[in-house]
Amino acid sequence: MEGTMKGAYLPGNSTVVFKDVPIPRPGHGQVLVRMKSSTICGSDIRAIYREHVGKGPEGYQGVIAGHEPCGQVVEEGPGIRRFKKGSRVIVYHISGCGVCHDCRMGYMISCSSPLRAAYGWQRDGGMAEYILCDEKDLVELPDSLSYTDGAQVACGFGTVYEAIQKVGVSGNDSVLVVGLGPVGLAAAMLCRAMGAQNIYGIEMNPLRIELAKKLNLVDQVFAPAESNVDDIKALTGGNGVERAFDASANDKGRATAIRATRQWGKIAFVGEGGTVNFNPSPDIIHAQKTIYGSWVTSIWLMENLVEELVRWNLHPELLVTNRFSLDKADEAYKLMAGGNCGKVAVCFDEELK
Ligand SMILES: [Zn+2]
Ligand SMILES: [Zn+2]
Repeated sequence: MEGTMKGAYLPGNSTVVFKDVPIPRPGHGQVLVRMKSSTICGSDIRAIYREHVGKGPEGYQGVIAGHEPCGQVVEEGPGIRRFKKGSRVIVYHISGCGVCHDCRMGYMISCSSPLRAAYGWQRDGGMAEYILCDEKDLVELPDSLSYTDGAQVACGFGTVYEAIQKVGVSGNDSVLVVGLGPVGLAAAMLCRAMGAQNIYGIEMNPLRIELAKKLNLVDQVFAPAESNVDDIKALTGGNGVERAFDASANDKGRATAIRATRQWGKIAFVGEGGTVNFNPSPDIIHAQKTIYGSWVTSIWLMENLVEELVRWNLHPELLVTNRFSLDKADEAYKLMAGGNCGKVAVCFDEELK
């Protein structure tokens, strides 16, 4: 592919800058992917868009933004083994060294090699017409899923799926999701698919509450309040939920997730940043509770998630409330930063409906 392409960069002052750059050429083991859908993650706002606060794996290196890329292979470099021109692909958004222990477990997110580079953080991401990918970072997107379904798997849904695997969710469980932004909504959607009968949410934004109810992701939503723990216990025989997820990153929200969980229950933290205050003895030790931290997922679990989405006929795209073309990416980031939205997508070609 010859010529130049437009790419979106985030200078860290709540703006988007566009640059024309050469279309990259795939080297050995690489492919060129025509972008189809690129969704915005909360981490983009928290660590890059407003200001560059990320360090280490979250340190933004002035590359093309976007770490939820999904598209179609249009050019193969030498040495490609599986994916071909025409393949529909999700980009597992962290390119690990491939040979450290974490990479060998499929957790490139946890790669500690200096060679580790995340798309949209340390190497060019999905907010451009094309993205250069290492073949080993790709996950096949089945025909029954849209590119906008796939984009969300690249980070948000993958992250939630991993947390759910850690705590385990089934029809035995009632679930609390604190924070119904895109990650919390994804958690509710997957827990519902796994059979959770009673899903409770804590959220204040009316648009997000409306979306959660419209899609039947939650049975009841409470505004954040001191009474939240009592309210949840009242709905669960005085015991609390079996499983809770915090996607709020809020100090009180996290404490609520812990306290509204019953004895022997499990809590997963996926919301990033901030703090939490709780009292270890009454809140977790004496109640035999377990709190899990969970960061993105492994590439093999991402493949499993994709297979499950097909089986469940589940479409992450339903969480997208707003689509923009690439040249309107500034509006897309601004909307996401304001929070009055579900998931926000930058779309290309047929995905821009
Ligand atoms: Zn992300
Ligand atoms: Zn590695």
